[in-house]
Amino acid sequence: MSKPKILCIDLDDTLALTANTILEYAIHFDKTILNRSGILKKIDTCGDYYYFARMLGWNREQLINFFDTYYIDYLRKIKVKSDAELIIKKIKRLGIKVYIVTSRRERENNIVREITRQWLKQNKILYDKLFINVIDKSKLIEQIKPTYFVDDSYQNCLNVLQTFEKTKVFLIETDFNKNIQTKNILKIKELKELYEFIKGDVENA
Ligand SMILES: [Mg+2]
Repeated sequence: MSKPKILCIDLDDTLALTANTILEYAIHFDKTILNRSGILKKIDTCGDYYYFARMLGWNREQLINFFDTYYIDYLRKIKVKSDAELIIKKIKRLGIKVYIVTSRRERENNIVREITRQWLKQNKILYDKLFINVIDKSKLIEQIKPTYFVDDSYQNCLNVLQTFEKTKVFLIETDFNKNIQTKNILKIKELKELYEFIKGDVENA
């Protein structure tokens, strides 16, 4: 029997509507803790996770302060994308193993893993494995050697592609990465495009 294909998929801003919640908390923090305006600057080419800090012009210290203050609170409030449950279910029905790979930083007592597990259960997202606190996704990808990798971070996509070129890498579009031009990385607007691609792949095998 051949080895099952693996999909490594990011969580925040890929399966979850994380930006909406983060921005809400970040604006609140900017106004009430930093005594600033809370006005967001427009950006559309952010390659990493910290679009909200750039939009509010924060320095590193302010960013760390924000995470210390609100991280655990906002993780619980994040909403799921409306089609995530169904698309993941359909991908699993194709015989694909689903590994959720997130860089969410762990805190004491594995609280972030626990919150994330509960969130996935509540939102009926099926998965085979959950990897938390993955600082360098490309290192993990090198070990797992998945067939597919999806992320909204252009930098992660690029690193994965450079580390393990056999993996098909997808960048899922957000308001913050949509103007990034990609080579060898497939840009998708919606999760259903991922499903269609994998379905085609499985059917043509
Ligand atoms: Mg993400």
